[in-house]
Amino acid sequence: MTFATLGLIEPLLRSLETLGYQTPTPVQAQAIPAVLAGRDLMAAAQTGTGKTAGFALPLLQLLAMEGPKVTANSVRALILVPTRELAEQVHESVRQYAENLPLRTYAVYGGVSINPQMMKLRSGVDLLVATPGRLLDLFRQNALKFNQLQTLVLDEADRMLDLGFSEELANIYRMLPKKRQTLLFSATFSDDIRLLAGQMLNDPLSIEVSPRNVAANTVKQWVVTVDKKRKPELFVHLMRKNKWKQVLVFAKTRNGVDALVEKLQGLGVNADGIHGDKPQATRQRALDRFKLSEVQILVATDVAARGLDIEDLPLVVNFDLPIVAEDYIHRIGRTGRAGSTGEAISLVCADEVNLLSAIEMLTRQTLKRQNEPDFEPEHRVPDTDASGQVIKKPKKPKKPKTSGGGGGKRNLGKWVDSGDTQAPEPSIKPVRKVPVFNTGPRKRKP
Ligand code: AMP
Repeated sequence: MTFATLGLIEPLLRSLETLGYQTPTPVQAQAIPAVLAGRDLMAAAQTGTGKTAGFALPLLQLLAMEGPKVTANSVRALILVPTRELAEQVHESVRQYAENLPLRTYAVYGGVSINPQMMKLRSGVDLLVATPGRLLDLFRQNALKFNQLQTLVLDEADRMLDLGFSEELANIYRMLPKKRQTLLFSATFSDDIRLLAGQMLNDPLSIEVSPRNVAANTVKQWVVTVDKKRKPELFVHLMRKNKWKQVLVFAKTRNGVDALVEKLQGLGVNADGIHGDKPQATRQRALDRFKLSEVQILVATDVAARGLDIEDLPLVVNFDLPIVAEDYIHRIGRTGRAGSTGEAISLVCADEVNLLSAIEMLTRQTLKRQNEPDFEPEHRVPDTDASGQVIKKPKKPKKPKTSGGGGGKRNLGKWVDSGDTQAPEPSIKPVRKVPVFNTGPRKRKP
């Protein structure tokens, strides 16, 4: 199958040739003809599957071939994304695909001045990528109109709900014309996402390109158990011992990110951090430099790093386990992409045993554990397995402490190569609830 047989026009085929895309990915093969035919779409696909081209290529083709010229402050296609980084990333892809088409594309997001965005929108934009909060701000300041809107894309819809954007989405939904094409992409399909889909989509075509933990299939994963207070020391030890070159590290909190970056920089390591408190320009610069390998270690919170596409990333380290087990899959999905292999190491302390258990249950595998000599935890991490059980062993009488460790108990979790298992839809509870949308007659803002 080729992109030409999917019905794409020549200017798009030329862009794809420049980018070196030869064969459509499974999500592209299914989504492109359906979107060109005007269908609504509900797609289970995560970053790394080629989903952006899956919606952007047919969308650009429809914009180029059909509909009126865009008028002042109007937008003809809207792509909503959860984070600023994703807005930039998706827009950059769109810009490359649209290289040979006479279309105006743009991205708006918070954390930067709104005035240049208002100026840019004055002459209208064919395709706008936006985060929900900034889109609403622009609308409220009369910088945007939606009467020409043909298509709405919700990208990473599950993440938008996790980040608490459900109210913003409901407000945006009320502002849009009822007659439109809607495409919803989500890595997971919780009840809330299905509810959202039920309200926003019209007879959608469902696409599921791969089991949702597919990223794990090419990623070798293991756990190193350690006491909480020794995590920074262990990280530095592993980094030096294994001569890590490029590592994306996930920490739970903003403070955690800052503390680790500070420690690494203090040791002369080329490290930087991204989290929600940092100005957008700083975040983007750190990310760009990491992608160019100018920064060796990038420490991030989940919010800042979700969905980012970093080529050939060999290693992800979970300095802290994620609170929401599904984030584990997203985190390790940053590596082992496009058929290459990757590694994901989690530093786990006793406090995190329930989080570990939830991850193992979700991914249906018992993660292999390794103790690092001299870092064996004093607070043992109880055994866990994919059934979700935390196996508490009877307490042994305390031995007198010996210096230097080395006698720590080796915890032999069963090694399961994640390729052995395929997880069905998990039963994890969503974090936020979606409000019920008002599907009655639309009220326009004054
Ligand atoms: P996405 O899932 O949209 O974030 O895409 C993941 C990566 O795959 C991006 O770097 C794309 O440029 C790349 N990509 C998407 N489609 C193809 C294709 N058909 N052939 C080669 N690379 C692709």
